Amino acid sequence: MKLHILLLTTLSLLVAKTYAQQTILITNAQVWDGTSDRVVPNTSVLIEDHLIVKVAPTIKAPKGTQIIDAQGKTLIPGLSDAHVHLALTMGMQTIRGQAHWMYTALRAAASAENFLMQGFTTVRDLGGPVFGLKKAIDEGLVPGPRIFPSGAFISQTSGHGDSRTANELSTYWYGNIMHPIDALGWAFVVDGRAEVLKAARENLRQGATQLKVMAGGGIDSDFDPIHSVQFTVDELRAAVSAAEDWDTYVAVHIYNSEGAIRALEAGVQCLDHGHLLNETAIKKIKEKNAWLVPQAYWIDAPADFWAPGQDQIPPETLKKVKIVLEGTKRQMDLAKKHQIKMGFGSDAYGGLGLESLALMEFTARTKWYTPVEVLKQATSGNAQLLALSGKTNPYLEGPLGVIVAGAYADLLIYEGNPLEDIRVLTDPKEHLKLIMKDGKIFKNELKKAD
Ligand SMILES: [Zn+2]
Repeated sequence: MKLHILLLTTLSLLVAKTYAQQTILITNAQVWDGTSDRVVPNTSVLIEDHLIVKVAPTIKAPKGTQIIDAQGKTLIPGLSDAHVHLALTMGMQTIRGQAHWMYTALRAAASAENFLMQGFTTVRDLGGPVFGLKKAIDEGLVPGPRIFPSGAFISQTSGHGDSRTANELSTYWYGNIMHPIDALGWAFVVDGRAEVLKAARENLRQGATQLKVMAGGGIDSDFDPIHSVQFTVDELRAAVSAAEDWDTYVAVHIYNSEGAIRALEAGVQCLDHGHLLNETAIKKIKEKNAWLVPQAYWIDAPADFWAPGQDQIPPETLKKVKIVLEGTKRQMDLAKKHQIKMGFGSDAYGGLGLESLALMEFTARTKWYTPVEVLKQATSGNAQLLALSGKTNPYLEGPLGVIVAGAYADLLIYEGNPLEDIRVLTDPKEHLKLIMKDGKIFKNELKKAD
């Protein structure tokens, strides 16, 4: 009998533990909510499980609450990066030729953790096999940010996503053997409306929250000049219609104005890069109420960013880098002048550790925007961009990128005030004292409350 009671008690305790709400109260923070222009001192934030339930000057702690004294430090929403490639931690030729896919996958997990530990609680992955990584992170198996995955790049033959070597022949003309790049979920090299639809739907089937289409020449590819315009209007419309049928949208890789205008006409809602855009193209973005995600920090990026794993930048790549960088200032000037909706995205990829380059974008953008404007781009602004994923958005329980009741409990506490000095964000080891994602604490260097 005694044993019976003991078992029951143990069982009910276990059940209680499973279902009990975990509550955390953060007190004495100066809070920036993600949308306003100032911080509010002496504020408390109550978190229940994975959501923020109350933000107020004083909050009575419910029984069993863990209390964290923020000691007057600055609490802001978790940051987001709208252009990452978590699985692309080596050169593409290494990934397709030498690295075992599981090694690539484990490096992707390490990269995801690096992004999270820099304060990025959400990323939009714009190409690469990350569906499994996203699932593992959401399940809590490995630490990392929330991922909005695109899946495989959709590229035309000879486009930016066609990474075949000179000796790898077209599967269409020379046989049906799958290239490793297709088989491993990196790219669909497709031509014509029907093939684009198939590729788009394949990605959507895997759980893509948006589609990534290559609409023009790129730096990190050998057979497409920067000036090239990729995919016909009809092909682009095919991708857009497949996306819209899933209630989501298409983002394109594009530098030049011709490709940008064509993509916008086809219904594309987000242009990534855009470094060579002229005023006509920028005005078209405005007219279509679309988004632009440029990388202003590239002007100052180190050489190994452009040629990961290589001793020096190959001359062909260097030529392309030069063309793109020359347009960057004009693009940013025009985007600012026409008040284009700016997503915050770094495209920082190519090596473990290079994730830290994403932080350079904060300082780079202050040449055009105030710190609080840049902060909005990387929090509540990006959240609007991510929300274009409509019903495919896996995180629909509350808003992201804001500190309000009902929002996801993704938040950061900094020593120093990034609204006054954006450089606070660029040294997370030193300044970032607490990282919470989905109500879970991944770093806490604040002293105990007692
Ligand atoms: Zn990219």
